[in-house]
Amino acid sequence: MSESVLVLGAGFAGLELATSLSEVFGDEAGVTLVDGGEAFVFGYSKLDVMFGRAEPDEVQLPYARFAKRGVRFLNETITGIDPEARRATTDAGEYEADILVVALGAEYDREATPGLVLGENEFYSVAGAERLREVLPAFRNGRAVVGVCGAPFKCPPAPSEAALLLHDYLSERGVRDECEIVLAMPFETPVPPSPDTSAALLDAFAERGIEFVGGHEVASVDQARNVVVLDGGEELACDLFLGVPKHRAAGVVLESGMAEDGYVPVDSRTLETRFPGVYAVGDVATVGVPKAGVFSEGAARVVASAIIAARTGAAPPDPFDGRGACYVEFGAGRIGRVDVDFLSGPRPTGTFQQPSAALVAEKKHFGSSRRERWFGG
Ligand SMILES: Cc1cc2nc3c(=O)[nH]c(=O)nc-3n(C[C@H](O)[C@H](O)[C@H](O)COP(=O)(O)OP(=O)(O)OC[C@H]3O[C@@H](n4cnc5c(N)ncnc54)[C@H](O)[C@@H]3O)c2cc1C
Repeated sequence: MSESVLVLGAGFAGLELATSLSEVFGDEAGVTLVDGGEAFVFGYSKLDVMFGRAEPDEVQLPYARFAKRGVRFLNETITGIDPEARRATTDAGEYEADILVVALGAEYDREATPGLVLGENEFYSVAGAERLREVLPAFRNGRAVVGVCGAPFKCPPAPSEAALLLHDYLSERGVRDECEIVLAMPFETPVPPSPDTSAALLDAFAERGIEFVGGHEVASVDQARNVVVLDGGEELACDLFLGVPKHRAAGVVLESGMAEDGYVPVDSRTLETRFPGVYAVGDVATVGVPKAGVFSEGAARVVASAIIAARTGAAPPDPFDGRGACYVEFGAGRIGRVDVDFLSGPRPTGTFQQPSAALVAEKKHFGSSRRERWFGG
């Protein structure tokens, strides 16, 4: 009898894990996958929604379309996790399994940055992207600040992309000359592991008159005075704030006793937590890699392979390598790519590929192939 697997969270990590097990074991996969949301949304689609490049309902992949043999999908909100018992409680029931995989992603900390209002002046949630989509058309002059409120944050190139896409958006509307764009982030350079990517982004900012303020995070947003306050106390005038909220694991994870410093520590080679039979995969875990879908998915494949090996007697998988490719939007339809390697050497490294038509096609394929694999057709 195969061991049962309870997967909490159907994002990049949970969808890939459940799909991989279904592929190998079919009706015998024995997977229960739980998510409280209605639909999966690619992170980068939030930029498309915010800048009016896609309609909100176009980017939703409803879980109702997720149907895999041997996987029971439960649309329920998880309210408690007991890692010792490998048990989760939801708003509808209680579930136990031989193997528990926590893949609940990273959430936004609404208390951490005074003046930052989730769903209002940030673009990292679907609600926030939808709201800013309504606000942006009224912005015709003044200063826009794209600001990061703390590290780690999902998809490190995304704030740079937002600044470049904002430049396009304002240019297309003929108001760019009346507007300033400032990008403030805690890293000294836009993509620290890849000096070439950072240099290309800094060149792109310089060409477009975007001011880059590195090494500072946003400590608070004062909407009444129209200023953003940085961690050193410096104030930036700000008529429009496009924020990246401070992140942390979901409350239910913090309350479970699994987390340390906001996330779940794991063995980065195997994704095992200190609790036997319990894994943490993706943004929810401290693995030593950036918080990005491509790493969540890669880590999920390692866990899937370990489960498959244990069931079939196959050799255990190679350790998680911490490698991944991220596409970087430079605006004007140009897309570059950075290949990063976080775990194999003494320090993270990254290799940059200049924007090209081939990379535009590749990013499209990145999305469509996952959509196809997880949701079919
Ligand atoms: C603007 C932006 C651009 C991005 N661009 C890229 C990119 O180009 N490439 C890339 O690789 N990554 C990108 N990302 C990052 C990527 O979206 C995340 O890193 C990725 O989704 C993490 O996957 P995950 O499976 O760990 O968590 P998630 O995808 O966040 O999934 C976690 C799931 O858990 C569920 N959940 C949480 N709490 C509960 C609960 N209590 N009960 C039930 N369900 C719950 C949520 O509903 C969610 O579906 C981007 C992110 C943003 C915000």
